[in-house]
Amino acid sequence: MDLAQLTSDLQALRGRAVDAAATAADTAALEELDISVLGKKGELTAVLRGIGALPAEDRPKVGAIANDVRMAVEAALAASRTRLGGAEMAARLAAEAVDVTTPGRPVRRGSLHPIVETAREIARVFAQFGFQVYEGPEIEDDVTNFQMLNIPPDHPARDLWDTLYLDLDGRLLRTHTSPGQIRVMHKEQPPIRALLPGRCFRYEAVDASHASEFFQVEGLMIDEGTSMADLKGLLDQFAHAMFGEGRATRFRPGYYPFTEPSVAFDILCVICNGEKCPACSRTGWMTILGAGMVHPVVLRYGGIDPERYQGFAFGMGVERIANLRHHVIDLRAYMEDDLRFLGGFR
Ligand SMILES: [Zn+2]
Repeated sequence: MDLAQLTSDLQALRGRAVDAAATAADTAALEELDISVLGKKGELTAVLRGIGALPAEDRPKVGAIANDVRMAVEAALAASRTRLGGAEMAARLAAEAVDVTTPGRPVRRGSLHPIVETAREIARVFAQFGFQVYEGPEIEDDVTNFQMLNIPPDHPARDLWDTLYLDLDGRLLRTHTSPGQIRVMHKEQPPIRALLPGRCFRYEAVDASHASEFFQVEGLMIDEGTSMADLKGLLDQFAHAMFGEGRATRFRPGYYPFTEPSVAFDILCVICNGEKCPACSRTGWMTILGAGMVHPVVLRYGGIDPERYQGFAFGMGVERIANLRHHVIDLRAYMEDDLRFLGGFR
């Protein structure tokens, strides 16, 4: 091997390698070219192995040429890397592009449970007449739940309530919101205008019209000179707000141990408007709550002088009001987690 041959081989290698770099299809091909020409086992290294056979004065010349070839090939590789790398990045950006104008997935918004919505609406109506919301405990004692409401232990009225007793020194799950009346009387001085919403419990076989857990709203007003006429006027306003202006109402005699006299408050049937249909048992009327003048015995238990003050109380089932407003026929639907039902009130 002589100088001329080596020089010629190096120039040929340079030409091939620079051409290959310029025409490489992708960056992977460039890396292969880099290794096959400039790598430890590459073509340039192989050519330079022939240097040892040259006369000593020729060796620097070949070394200089080899260096030129290496720099030319490296420059060609770098230029192609820039070109192909940019194209590949552009292609990748195009392929992975996110379309920010695509409509998003709708977020499902919750709504108030129909019982909560109805209880809030009831509270809103009575708030207009100055009634303030109080809450009593769900776990009550026998004295507050029964005895102070004029229902002594042997009183036949206890048959009205199938009570869930707790294994805790005579305590029980409240059967109604009425014990809240006693708690408010112990806490406040007249004039009192209290609204007591809450969950109540009874030992009931559950069916379409009975539930072991249900919601009541209790109302209590105590002042000097409070009368049945005040009660009727207030309940009329309530009925008009909940069931439409001009909705006819009536009092019927009723019975509760803690009110005297006691009444049932009816509205004209919301289905048939008095024409008599199955929904109103063909009476034309629907009972929406019970009420009456607070029994003097109950006032005394509440620490209020019945000679000076009179009061009225009323209590209603929230499910009953919701049923009439939304025409629901099965109470169990309120306790089941079916959003098609629970979400359908808006
Ligand atoms: Zn009817």
